[in-house]
Amino acid sequence: MNLILLGPPGAGKGTQAKLIAARHGIPHISTGDIFRAAIAEGTPLGRQAKEFLDRGALVPDEIVIGIVTERLGAADCRPGFLLDGFPRTIPQAEALDRYLAATGRALTAVLALEVGEEVLIRRLGGRRVCRTCGAPYHIETNPPREEGRCDRCGGELYQREDDRPATVRERLRVYEAQTRPLLAYYEERGLLKRIRAEGGIEEVDAAIQRVLAGGGRRG
Ligand code: AMP
Repeated sequence: MNLILLGPPGAGKGTQAKLIAARHGIPHISTGDIFRAAIAEGTPLGRQAKEFLDRGALVPDEIVIGIVTERLGAADCRPGFLLDGFPRTIPQAEALDRYLAATGRALTAVLALEVGEEVLIRRLGGRRVCRTCGAPYHIETNPPREEGRCDRCGGELYQREDDRPATVRERLRVYEAQTRPLLAYYEERGLLKRIRAEGGIEEVDAAIQRVLAGGGRRG
Protein backbone atom coordinates (compact mmCIF):
# COMPACT_ATOMS: atom_id res chain seq x y z
CA MET A 1 0.00 0.00 0.00
CA ASN A 2 1.71 3.21 -1.22
CA LEU A 3 -0.11 6.15 0.32
CA ILE A 4 0.08 9.92 0.54
CA LEU A 5 -1.66 11.86 3.28
CA LEU A 6 -2.47 15.40 2.14
CA GLY A 7 -4.03 18.26 4.01
CA PRO A 8 -3.41 21.70 5.45
CA PRO A 9 -1.32 22.18 8.59
CA GLY A 10 -3.47 21.22 11.56
CA ALA A 11 -5.61 18.74 9.63
CA GLY A 12 -4.33 15.89 11.81
CA LYS A 13 -1.99 14.31 9.26
CA GLY A 14 0.64 13.26 11.81
CA THR A 15 -1.88 11.73 14.20
CA GLN A 16 -3.72 9.81 11.50
CA ALA A 17 -0.51 8.80 9.73
CA LYS A 18 0.74 7.01 12.85
CA LEU A 19 -2.52 5.04 13.09
CA ILE A 20 -2.56 4.06 9.41
CA ALA A 21 1.13 3.11 9.36
CA ALA A 22 0.77 0.92 12.47
CA ARG A 23 -2.34 -0.80 11.15
CA HIS A 24 -0.80 -1.61 7.76
CA GLY A 25 2.74 -2.23 8.96
CA ILE A 26 4.26 0.37 6.63
CA PRO A 27 6.76 3.12 7.48
CA HIS A 28 5.39 6.58 8.23
CA ILE A 29 7.59 9.10 6.44
CA SER A 30 7.05 12.65 7.67
CA THR A 31 9.29 15.24 6.03
CA GLY A 32 8.44 17.70 8.84
CA ASP A 33 9.62 15.15 11.44
CA ILE A 34 12.81 14.52 9.41
CA PHE A 35 13.58 18.26 9.37
CA ARG A 36 12.77 18.74 13.08
CA ALA A 37 15.03 15.82 14.00
CA ALA A 38 17.85 17.22 11.84
CA ILE A 39 17.44 20.65 13.47
CA ALA A 40 17.48 19.13 16.97
CA GLU A 41 20.67 17.21 16.11
CA GLY A 42 22.28 20.27 14.51
CA THR A 43 23.20 18.40 11.29
CA PRO A 44 24.06 20.32 8.06
CA LEU A 45 20.54 19.52 6.77
CA GLY A 46 19.08 20.87 9.99
CA ARG A 47 21.04 24.11 9.70
CA GLN A 48 19.82 24.53 6.11
CA ALA A 49 16.19 23.73 6.93
CA LYS A 50 15.82 25.76 10.12
CA GLU A 51 15.38 29.19 8.54
CA PHE A 52 12.56 27.89 6.33
CA LEU A 53 10.72 26.09 9.14
CA ASP A 54 11.00 29.08 11.47
CA ARG A 55 9.36 31.31 8.85
CA GLY A 56 6.65 28.80 7.94
CA ALA A 57 8.11 28.67 4.41
CA LEU A 58 8.73 25.55 2.35
CA VAL A 59 12.18 24.00 2.20
CA PRO A 60 13.40 24.12 -1.46
CA ASP A 61 12.11 21.28 -3.65
CA GLU A 62 15.56 19.83 -4.53
CA ILE A 63 16.40 19.29 -0.87
CA VAL A 64 13.08 17.66 0.02
CA ILE A 65 12.94 15.49 -3.10
CA GLY A 66 16.45 14.17 -2.42
CA ILE A 67 15.55 13.24 1.14
CA VAL A 68 12.32 11.49 0.23
CA THR A 69 13.65 9.50 -2.73
CA GLU A 70 16.58 8.32 -0.62
CA ARG A 71 14.18 7.27 2.15
CA LEU A 72 11.86 5.46 -0.30
CA GLY A 73 14.84 3.47 -1.53
CA ALA A 74 15.27 1.82 1.88
CA ALA A 75 14.29 -1.84 2.21
CA ASP A 76 11.49 -1.18 4.71
CA CYS A 77 9.57 0.77 2.03
CA ARG A 78 9.30 -2.26 -0.28
CA PRO A 79 5.95 -3.47 1.16
CA GLY A 80 4.61 0.07 1.08
CA PHE A 81 4.90 3.50 2.65
CA LEU A 82 2.86 6.41 3.94
CA LEU A 83 4.08 9.89 3.04
CA ASP A 84 2.97 12.65 5.42
CA GLY A 85 3.74 16.24 4.42
CA PHE A 86 5.20 15.29 1.03
CA PRO A 87 4.60 16.21 -1.74
CA ARG A 88 3.72 19.82 -1.01
CA THR A 89 4.27 21.33 -4.46
CA ILE A 90 3.53 20.25 -8.04
CA PRO A 91 7.26 19.80 -8.86
CA GLN A 92 7.57 17.52 -5.80
CA ALA A 93 4.59 15.46 -6.99
CA GLU A 94 6.07 15.17 -10.49
CA ALA A 95 9.44 14.12 -9.09
CA LEU A 96 7.72 11.49 -6.95
CA ASP A 97 5.83 10.14 -9.97
CA ARG A 98 9.06 9.86 -11.94
CA TYR A 99 10.86 8.16 -9.07
CA LEU A 100 8.08 5.63 -8.45
CA ALA A 101 7.78 4.82 -12.16
CA ALA A 102 11.56 4.32 -12.36
CA THR A 103 11.46 1.91 -9.41
CA GLY A 104 8.41 0.01 -10.71
CA ARG A 105 5.95 1.25 -8.11
CA ALA A 106 2.70 3.24 -8.19
CA LEU A 107 0.60 5.14 -5.69
CA THR A 108 -2.37 3.27 -4.23
CA ALA A 109 -4.28 6.35 -3.06
CA VAL A 110 -3.94 9.95 -1.93
CA LEU A 111 -5.96 10.68 1.21
CA ALA A 112 -6.90 14.35 1.51
CA LEU A 113 -7.96 15.45 4.99
CA GLU A 114 -10.45 18.34 4.73
CA VAL A 115 -10.78 20.81 7.60
CA GLY A 116 -12.10 24.40 7.64
CA GLU A 117 -9.73 27.25 8.46
CA GLU A 118 -11.23 28.15 11.85
CA VAL A 119 -10.81 24.59 13.08
CA LEU A 120 -7.23 24.52 11.77
CA ILE A 121 -6.28 27.66 13.65
CA ARG A 122 -7.80 26.30 16.88
CA ARG A 123 -6.05 22.97 16.47
CA LEU A 124 -2.63 24.43 15.72
CA GLY A 125 -2.84 26.92 18.61
CA GLY A 126 -3.54 24.12 21.11
CA ARG A 127 -1.11 21.59 19.69
CA ARG A 128 1.74 20.36 21.89
CA VAL A 129 4.41 17.85 20.88
CA CYS A 130 6.68 15.61 22.94
CA ARG A 131 10.28 16.77 22.75
CA THR A 132 11.53 13.19 23.12
CA CYS A 133 9.27 10.93 21.02
CA GLY A 134 7.30 13.42 18.89
CA ALA A 135 3.86 12.22 20.08
CA PRO A 136 1.21 14.87 19.36
CA TYR A 137 -1.30 16.24 21.91
CA HIS A 138 -3.89 19.00 22.05
CA ILE A 139 -4.54 20.94 25.23
CA GLU A 140 -8.35 20.68 24.77
CA THR A 141 -9.15 17.72 22.56
CA ASN A 142 -6.34 15.27 23.33
CA PRO A 143 -4.65 16.37 26.56
CA PRO A 144 -1.94 14.30 28.25
CA ARG A 145 -2.81 12.66 31.58
CA GLU A 146 -0.31 14.92 33.35
CA GLU A 147 -0.02 18.50 32.11
CA GLY A 148 3.13 19.13 30.08
CA ARG A 149 4.26 15.45 30.17
CA CYS A 150 4.07 12.81 27.45
CA ASP A 151 1.83 9.82 28.34
CA ARG A 152 4.04 7.44 26.38
CA CYS A 153 7.57 8.35 27.42
CA GLY A 154 7.29 11.05 30.11
CA GLY A 155 9.07 13.57 27.85
CA GLU A 156 8.44 17.31 28.04
CA LEU A 157 5.64 18.70 25.83
CA TYR A 158 6.31 21.93 23.94
CA GLN A 159 4.66 24.19 21.40
CA ARG A 160 6.31 24.06 17.97
CA GLU A 161 7.88 27.39 17.02
CA ASP A 162 5.87 27.33 13.79
CA ASP A 163 2.56 26.81 15.66
CA ARG A 164 2.65 30.43 16.91
CA PRO A 165 -0.10 32.59 15.37
CA ALA A 166 1.92 34.66 12.84
CA THR A 167 3.67 31.57 11.47
CA VAL A 168 0.41 29.61 11.38
CA ARG A 169 -1.10 32.28 9.11
CA GLU A 170 1.92 32.06 6.79
CA ARG A 171 1.76 28.24 6.68
CA LEU A 172 -1.92 28.34 5.75
CA ARG A 173 -1.17 30.88 3.01
CA VAL A 174 1.63 28.66 1.66
CA TYR A 175 -0.70 25.66 1.74
CA GLU A 176 -3.33 27.46 -0.34
CA ALA A 177 -0.81 28.73 -2.89
CA GLN A 178 1.51 25.76 -3.27
CA THR A 179 -0.13 22.60 -1.94
CA ARG A 180 -3.86 22.89 -2.68
CA PRO A 181 -3.19 22.52 -6.45
CA LEU A 182 -2.12 18.93 -5.67
CA LEU A 183 -5.77 18.01 -5.01
CA ALA A 184 -6.60 18.61 -8.69
CA TYR A 185 -3.35 16.92 -9.74
CA TYR A 186 -4.29 13.67 -7.98
CA GLU A 187 -7.98 13.96 -8.78
CA GLU A 188 -7.11 13.98 -12.48
CA ARG A 189 -5.12 10.78 -11.94
CA GLY A 190 -8.05 9.09 -10.18
CA LEU A 191 -6.14 8.73 -6.91
CA LEU A 192 -7.76 11.35 -4.67
CA LYS A 193 -9.91 10.29 -1.71
CA ARG A 194 -11.38 13.20 0.22
CA ILE A 195 -12.02 12.67 3.91
CA ARG A 196 -13.91 15.06 6.18
CA ALA A 197 -11.55 15.49 9.09
CA GLU A 198 -13.19 17.93 11.51
CA GLY A 199 -14.33 15.20 13.90
CA GLY A 200 -12.40 13.48 16.67
CA ILE A 201 -9.35 11.26 16.13
CA GLU A 202 -11.33 7.99 16.20
CA GLU A 203 -14.04 9.29 13.89
CA VAL A 204 -11.52 10.41 11.26
CA ASP A 205 -9.59 7.14 11.66
CA ALA A 206 -12.80 5.18 10.99
CA ALA A 207 -13.51 7.28 7.88
CA ILE A 208 -9.99 6.58 6.59
CA GLN A 209 -10.42 2.86 7.21
CA ARG A 210 -13.68 2.87 5.25
CA VAL A 211 -12.06 4.66 2.32
CA LEU A 212 -9.05 2.30 2.29
CA ALA A 213 -11.37 -0.70 2.41
CA GLY A 214 -13.06 0.68 -0.71
CA GLY A 215 -16.18 1.76 1.12
CA GLY A 216 -16.83 4.99 -0.77
CA ARG A 217 -15.13 8.27 -1.48
CA ARG A 218 -16.44 10.16 1.52
CA GLY A 219 -15.94 9.25 5.16
P1 AMP B 1 4.95 19.68 8.89
O1 AMP B 1 5.41 19.04 10.14
O2 AMP B 1 4.56 18.69 7.82
O3 AMP B 1 3.89 20.74 9.11
O4 AMP B 1 6.24 20.44 8.28
C1 AMP B 1 6.86 21.48 9.00
C2 AMP B 1 7.71 22.33 8.07
O5 AMP B 1 8.72 21.52 7.44
C3 AMP B 1 6.98 22.99 6.93
O6 AMP B 1 6.33 24.21 7.32
C4 AMP B 1 8.12 23.25 5.94
O7 AMP B 1 8.93 24.33 6.37
C5 AMP B 1 8.95 21.98 6.10
N1 AMP B 1 8.49 20.93 5.18
C6 AMP B 1 7.94 19.72 5.52
N2 AMP B 1 7.63 19.00 4.43
C7 AMP B 1 7.99 19.75 3.35
C8 AMP B 1 7.90 19.58 1.94
N3 AMP B 1 7.39 18.47 1.40
N4 AMP B 1 8.37 20.59 1.16
C9 AMP B 1 8.90 21.70 1.68
N5 AMP B 1 8.99 21.95 2.99
C10 AMP B 1 8.54 20.99 3.84
